[in-house]
Amino acid sequence: MQSDRVLIIGAGPVGLAAAMFLVERGVKVRVLEAEPALCEDMRASTFHPATLDLLAPSGIADALIGQGHRADKWQYLNFETGDRVVFNLGVLEGLTRHPFRLQCEQFRLTRQIVETLAGNDLFEISFNAQVRAVGQDEAGAWVELADGQSLRGAYVVAADGGRSTARKALNLPFEGETYPKTSITVVVDHDFGARFDGVLFVNYVWTADDHFSLMRVRDHWRVGFSPQAGQSVEEAVSAEGVNARLKALFPRDEDYRLVHIGWYSVHRRVIDKFNHGRILFAGDAAHLNSPAGGMGMNSGVHDAHELAVQLAAVLKGGAPDLLDLYDRRRRTIAVEEVQAQSDRNYRRHREKDPAKRVEIWKEFQRLTASDDTMRDYLFRSSMLASLERAAAIN
Ligand SMILES: Cc1cc2nc3c(=O)[nH]c(=O)nc-3n(C[C@H](O)[C@H](O)[C@H](O)COP(=O)(O)OP(=O)(O)OC[C@H]3O[C@@H](n4cnc5c(N)ncnc54)[C@H](O)[C@@H]3O)c2cc1C
Repeated sequence: MQSDRVLIIGAGPVGLAAAMFLVERGVKVRVLEAEPALCEDMRASTFHPATLDLLAPSGIADALIGQGHRADKWQYLNFETGDRVVFNLGVLEGLTRHPFRLQCEQFRLTRQIVETLAGNDLFEISFNAQVRAVGQDEAGAWVELADGQSLRGAYVVAADGGRSTARKALNLPFEGETYPKTSITVVVDHDFGARFDGVLFVNYVWTADDHFSLMRVRDHWRVGFSPQAGQSVEEAVSAEGVNARLKALFPRDEDYRLVHIGWYSVHRRVIDKFNHGRILFAGDAAHLNSPAGGMGMNSGVHDAHELAVQLAAVLKGGAPDLLDLYDRRRRTIAVEEVQAQSDRNYRRHREKDPAKRVEIWKEFQRLTASDDTMRDYLFRSSMLASLERAAAIN
């Protein structure tokens, strides 16, 4: 039997944001999550102004602001010389309701959405519900779970992450590249802010021959880096390896208390089309980018919003080609904004050639020389420009 409900694969930030934006538009959803509970994911730590603006009408932005730290400024820092270039998000005042980056873990978003939707008759979430196949026919779309159960809906939203089962089940290409370096994220129970002069809540740091990032989340600091030249990933992510790296940067006798060590391959990939009939792709299932600049989850939430707007209109009798509009808008942004900017950030952060570093630094200084140039740059890096651009695509 066809149903008007939408099945959503994945209770990550994108699946749950899609669920919330659809429910707000009167659409019934059922979210299917393979894990037994919401993941306590240590990946995204930054919410950009554009995303907070989208989440605000649902009450989620204020709830998250209460669970994180406002970063009104962020900086590039030369660790050896102490030189810094500071970007002041205050120049975005008037262009966004949230002229700051919010430092807050992505798992707080998923928890907050489930809490907000709890008890809503349009919302259902099932855990231990691993999808192993998806398909569609004239009447609707379906998924098959690992336990053999079959579920039907009017549409399926595949928000099942970078390794998307739905994408693989449909045999869809995921063109792009895998970057050579593994990204390591370490959550440390230590107040770097107190130890490290001039630290802000978001810091991209060059050392003489390497780089690292230092980010504040609610209760801890996160340090991001890659294995050093000649070092294996295993060595770099061992507790000894991590401690040696931290102590070389921030000397101390005792070991650092490591709350979490995660490591990730970094890709730049995109699916051929975000809509395949009644199966729609969003977030990491549709596009991957380097985490440099913090745009993967943010752009996935933007996908979720656009998807909900167009899909709700289709379910209320609008033309199905509104879903082509979803594809045109969000795929263009994924490639031309998110991937382009994060790729440039990735390369800048890793640049080791002294002459090229001088050029990059001069560029940062040029960008921050006046409020106008800084505003132009931050309007784009805060993803406000990409929302504006997407809305103008017809
Ligand atoms: C080190 C690092 C730092 C990052 N920092 C940032 C940042 O600061 N800002 C930012 O915007 N982005 C950041 N990102 C990217 C961000 O983490 C991802 O873009 C984001 O998690 C994508 O969300 P998603 O919901 O699409 O996928 P996921 O978060 O991967 O969620 C997918 C969900 O689907 C479930 N699932 C998978 N397969 C199935 C199945 N077959 N059946 C049912 N359920 C299934 C999974 O269990 C999971 O819960 C970072 C990434 C990394 C690696």
